[in-house]
Amino acid sequence: MKALTWHGKRDVRVEEVPDPAIKEPTDAIIRVTTTAICGSDLHLYEVLGPFIGEGDVLGHEPMGIVEEVGAGVTHIAPGDRVVIPFNISCGHCYMCDRALFAQCETTQVREYDTGAALFGYTKLYGEVPGGQAEYLRVPQAHFGPIKVPEGPPDERFVYLSDVLPTSWQAVEWAEIPDGGSVTVFGLGPIGQMSARIARHRGYRVIAVDLVPERLEMARRHGIEVIDANDTDNVPEAVRSMTGGRGTDSVIDAVGMEAHG
Ligand SMILES: [Zn+2]
Ligand SMILES: [Zn+2]
Repeated sequence: MKALTWHGKRDVRVEEVPDPAIKEPTDAIIRVTTTAICGSDLHLYEVLGPFIGEGDVLGHEPMGIVEEVGAGVTHIAPGDRVVIPFNISCGHCYMCDRALFAQCETTQVREYDTGAALFGYTKLYGEVPGGQAEYLRVPQAHFGPIKVPEGPPDERFVYLSDVLPTSWQAVEWAEIPDGGSVTVFGLGPIGQMSARIARHRGYRVIAVDLVPERLEMARRHGIEVIDANDTDNVPEAVRSMTGGRGTDSVIDAVGMEAHG
């Protein structure tokens, strides 16, 4: 099959690699129909190179059609249309029982003291071949894949693999009180979606960034924005918009490798 492989800093290539096969009863094989590129992939493109093997297959935001399942996989079957979450979790360990799926003890990468294994994301997260490929082996497939209905286009669903639940969870964990307000720092994909989800849920949203197009995109969707280029005191700018008090909650969506 064809897959996107890593070869060095700023050097990724689509090339032929062996087709994946079922190795464990809890595996599934997916024929990928749609896959997204994530901001997290940019770290691999640049600074995380020391932790990637040459030829590793990248990608962690795919969806597709189930081709084959192991004997332990019963909630999906060949022909089903599925979204594959970034985290690879077993669904039944100590951490999974507490909904801390990113810390799954079954797939956790203890060698590097990191969390649960991830698709296409370096030795730090299990060096599991990723989803920017024609086919994907899905470990722990008795738990991870989410079945979606036939019909609506992939774009409606592929966000469920990573960015949309990440953003939703940020709003959830911000615990904004009823009728309350939130400041969102950073208006990349997660910040944009967090801001819009918070608006959708009826909260007042103030967002901070310094890239004009990002600010404009947020403004188009009913978000009040602060251009960090215009002030050397962002907290004071937030306070001045909120009766001197600040917002009830804050979401930090700046991420790593932020510049400026
Ligand atoms: Zn992602
Ligand atoms: Zn688990």
